[in-house]
Amino acid sequence: MIENPSNWAGNYRYRAVQFHQPETVQQIQELVVQGSKLKALGTRHSFNDIADSPGDIISLEHFNKIVALDREHHTVTVEAGVRYGQLARWLYGEGYALHNLASLPHISVAGACATGTHGSGDKHGNLATAVSALEIVTASGELVVLSREKDGDQFRGAVVGLGGLGVITKLTLDVSPTFEMRQDVYENLPLAELEEHFDELFSSVYSVSLFTDWRKATFNQVWLKRHLPDHAPTHLGPQLFRATLAASPLHPIAALSAENCTEQMGVRGPWYERLPHFRMDFTPSSGEELQSEYLVPRQHALKALRVIDQLQEYIAPLLQISEIRSIAADDLWMSPCFKQACIGIHFTWKKDWEGVQKVLPLIEEQFAQFDARPHWAKLFMMSPVRLQSLYEKMPDFRRLLEHYDPQGKFRNAYLDKYIFGVS
Ligand SMILES: Cc1cc2nc3c(=O)[nH]c(=O)nc-3n(C[C@H](O)[C@H](O)[C@H](O)COP(=O)(O)OP(=O)(O)OC[C@H]3O[C@@H](n4cnc5c(N)ncnc54)[C@H](O)[C@@H]3O)c2cc1C
Repeated sequence: MIENPSNWAGNYRYRAVQFHQPETVQQIQELVVQGSKLKALGTRHSFNDIADSPGDIISLEHFNKIVALDREHHTVTVEAGVRYGQLARWLYGEGYALHNLASLPHISVAGACATGTHGSGDKHGNLATAVSALEIVTASGELVVLSREKDGDQFRGAVVGLGGLGVITKLTLDVSPTFEMRQDVYENLPLAELEEHFDELFSSVYSVSLFTDWRKATFNQVWLKRHLPDHAPTHLGPQLFRATLAASPLHPIAALSAENCTEQMGVRGPWYERLPHFRMDFTPSSGEELQSEYLVPRQHALKALRVIDQLQEYIAPLLQISEIRSIAADDLWMSPCFKQACIGIHFTWKKDWEGVQKVLPLIEEQFAQFDARPHWAKLFMMSPVRLQSLYEKMPDFRRLLEHYDPQGKFRNAYLDKYIFGVS
């Protein structure tokens, strides 16, 4: 039994009364039948209270097995607490790949999918778009399976489910044949140059990330993650839209050592050692940072970046680094990319909540014109009413939660406020 642990960043201490670490589905079912307030917990990487419960927390940390690889249908079924890093390495050994990964491989599959976690790539939806089936212990203790093939709307509502439908015990994910990648970094891309070549740059390779500290209208680094067919040319030009090829490996925060970062300098390697920015074998136990992110409909991306540039004087002093990524549209009700391709504008802040909570409303006020949606698992200040208005499927999602959880066992302060709240 864990006593009142904190989230990964240490900025949130769970208020739950009790923590359970069950080892079997039957134990989860018993806990759910007996409990009146519960919430599932993954690897605790969320920055807000989304995973907390006023009653008990059910940690999925013992649900860490890979259950089955279906070579005929190209799917893998995993227990919900499996971390992407573990799964990815195993899949590579079996000759398969996932379509994308987040910046960090240490997060659980269930927790990442429940919050619409994403990587980057014009053609790639967030990580939840790979889910083809979910097994869930719902409020009655019943084990329910929802699949993309059979359950249409209910499935599309459940995948980015914010932990509100119950305890997910297994997920089935689409996989593709394995591939290799190379990663190259360019330095100092002026914003004006990006404005000229935005689509060209983001569509040029499998995955693109831009990093900036917003101290000037320049992106300090451009990370290009390139899918390598067998005979791809390996030479890259020294310039990319006035950015310069880096002469040595870089951390997104240039002052930090790149030893924890995945390999760069064009070295060929497995997809799972290039798609994340950070290496699996480097285990950060906690982070001296806070994070926020807004998903801006792609057509507004450049205007949104200009807006942030104009807020430089407020943002830069609090910022460690900001990252810009692209994510394809999807059909998952609570995905911030529902029916719209988005550009993610992410902020890794210094651990100064007092300061950050003053600057978030400035960003949100400016981003309102773009209907930007906040990342569910990061820090935001938007009112529940405003947030709800950004999701056309919000009423259906509420009905779905009420259907599977009529007494609100899995509701916590976060869901009460942002999904059911009116203030
Ligand atoms: C260093 C760092 C880097 C990050 N990088 C990225 C990134 O690149 N892209 C991005 O989009 N986000 C990123 N995030 C955010 C992160 O992906 C989310 O916080 C994600 O939810 C983490 O998964 P978790 O297992 O830790 O979730 P938790 O924080 O443990 O839980 C999150 C939610 O998932 C639910 N949940 C978890 N397990 C289950 C289950 N078995 N059944 C039902 N519900 C469940 C919880 O109830 C809760 O609602 C990052 C976070 C950190 C700390």
